[in-house]
Amino acid sequence: MPTTTRTTCPYCGVGCGVTATVGDDAAVAVSGDVAHPSNLGSLCSKGTALADTVGLADRLLHPVVNGRRASWGDALDTVASRFTDIIAEHGPDAVAFYVSGQLLTEDYYVANKLMKGYIGSANIDTNSRLCMSSAVAGHVRAFGEDVVPGCYDDLEAADLVVLVGSNTAWCHPVVYQRIVAAQENDPSKRLVVIDPRRTATAEGADLHLALAPGTDVALFNGLLAWLAAQGFDSPRPGSADAVEAAHAGGDIAAVAAACGVDADVLTMFFQWFGDTDRTVTVFSQGVNQSSAGTDKVNAIINCHLLTDRIGKPGACPFSITGQPNAMGGREVGGLSNTLAAHMGFDEADTVQRFWDSPAIARKPGLKAVELFEAIESGRVKAVWIMATNPLVSLPDADRARRALEQCEFVAVSDCMRHTDTVNVAHVLLPAAAWAEKDGTVTNSERVISRQRNFLPIPGQAKPDWWIISDVARRMGFGAGFDYLGPADIFREHAELTAFENDGGRVLNLAGLADLSDDEYDALTPLRWPVGHQQPLRAVGAMPVIEDNRRLFGDGVYPTDDGQARLVAVTPRGPANDISAQWPLVLNTGRVRDHWHTMTRTSKSARLSAHIPEPFVEVHPLDAEQHALVNGALARVATAWGALTARVTVTTNQRRGSLFVPMHWNDQFAADARVGALGNPAVCPISGEPEFKHTPAAIAPY
Ligand code: SF4
Repeated sequence: MPTTTRTTCPYCGVGCGVTATVGDDAAVAVSGDVAHPSNLGSLCSKGTALADTVGLADRLLHPVVNGRRASWGDALDTVASRFTDIIAEHGPDAVAFYVSGQLLTEDYYVANKLMKGYIGSANIDTNSRLCMSSAVAGHVRAFGEDVVPGCYDDLEAADLVVLVGSNTAWCHPVVYQRIVAAQENDPSKRLVVIDPRRTATAEGADLHLALAPGTDVALFNGLLAWLAAQGFDSPRPGSADAVEAAHAGGDIAAVAAACGVDADVLTMFFQWFGDTDRTVTVFSQGVNQSSAGTDKVNAIINCHLLTDRIGKPGACPFSITGQPNAMGGREVGGLSNTLAAHMGFDEADTVQRFWDSPAIARKPGLKAVELFEAIESGRVKAVWIMATNPLVSLPDADRARRALEQCEFVAVSDCMRHTDTVNVAHVLLPAAAWAEKDGTVTNSERVISRQRNFLPIPGQAKPDWWIISDVARRMGFGAGFDYLGPADIFREHAELTAFENDGGRVLNLAGLADLSDDEYDALTPLRWPVGHQQPLRAVGAMPVIEDNRRLFGDGVYPTDDGQARLVAVTPRGPANDISAQWPLVLNTGRVRDHWHTMTRTSKSARLSAHIPEPFVEVHPLDAEQHALVNGALARVATAWGALTARVTVTTNQRRGSLFVPMHWNDQFAADARVGALGNPAVCPISGEPEFKHTPAAIAPY
């Protein structure tokens, strides 16, 4: 008999529900889950092709120690003893975990607990640092807690949707489909896209502002000053300072010149924003991945706070995350500058009391880029990398490679046998893959969904939570890691969110701490905070949105005085500007049909057929200046590295800018690892790297 399982797509932060059916012949079929509130049955090309990616080709199926097949006992003992010995000799800050938004919430929770509560260091960071840590920092500055105020229903309720630094049509396709469908139902709704590139998303917009790279703060400060001049005012703290800072940008003509856009088009955008109560501003990596990322986020939030367009139907600033469980990782403390359950280091005693743990981290640990710098310098001597491929994805990735190659001890948990990072590990720990994993994820609209296993775990692979817990026990921390399964871990996580929480933290899963195993298994998607936000809509029904039950609908925020804050921000240039040697700005991003470093999507012929090889987009005038021919190969170089890609000459690219996709690496194309070119400058507040602005040069190959 065929069996059907409801689970969740493992790719982007939209978090679509899928149904996976395993037939009598063991063939897998995947379709959209019509009962999941986030996608209502829709899937994009990547989700539709999930069944193509579940095969065992190149899977890591048994532990490996120093290049040789090993038993689980040997592998786990090696990891536990190397970490224990290095901690004993050099202290807890000499070790680190580098984890991933691909982990389930339960995996993330256990890894964070081991590092922060038992080892006693906060040196656990995640590839989510590269994706949305600027949004986290911006939320904390404005709202007092890392809380996304909106949900996807707001996109349909909005009369104006502004997409900033987001090629939503390719990177969050089902969210984009929901926006387009709402506009088709009501053509009076408008869509504005703010992006230096003319992307597939910009093609469908009513207005496209192709701003100069890195000028988002100037643009949104210009909007804030214009809104204030129209009479918008707010009693919220920081309002006067933010408006004063914004006025320093000058009039519309000056703002337009600073942003490299037409003043009339800019005025139209400002008027649309000013005239439309139901406005949602969606932002993504184009905003976050900047040395001024946090200020960009707050410049956007400021405009919503000044106009009071937040906590209402169809009105909010809205960060959409890149990964399937970036939000779940944030909830359990996967970032090195937070503890668990959205608590800060000033609440370390609370966390330690709850865990009854022998130690607790009392200060932030190393963020991703500085973590690899610390490995290179020898301050961090052992690192455990889980479910991510930093030798491709980090900026200045060749430096990260050198760091790992000279590190005393590198353990890697992964489901794949060959990746750039796996190849430099001393110990390989085979992990379960998407179809075999069991737990929960949280998507961009705070919806917690079950990810259920529907295929047996192959070979000797194990769930990540099991691997981490076993190492913890072998390090002598048995009592804290005696979990029987993911339901056990989820209950503990839910209980911690409510522990000594007098309402000061919005993240509160109190109602879920008593779930039985069967109730956990049957859990249907729900949005936190439980019992506070509007109910998830029924399939086919109009959104159910009641002002007084919305998050922030009561105007109360998790700050000391209960108020949200505007933050005065001032535009500043990129960390590394263009020069005679590096005259162009390199931008990176996703293509429609590949995911991260392609270890899964490359298994699907139909996904690989969309764009078969790495490319570099160049404006026609830049192509002429640099003697480049459409379809020929070119060499792209920066101060940090170089790659070869095929030239696409297009007016979709701004003059002076290049675009190269982030996915390809040594495994799939020679000499095409864009991370090696990436600018390692980071936002001083969030630690997020400046992937969108690397000074570069280009020449025919
Ligand atoms: Fe998966 Fe994102 Fe596509 Fe939904 S939109 S099917 S979550 S990749």
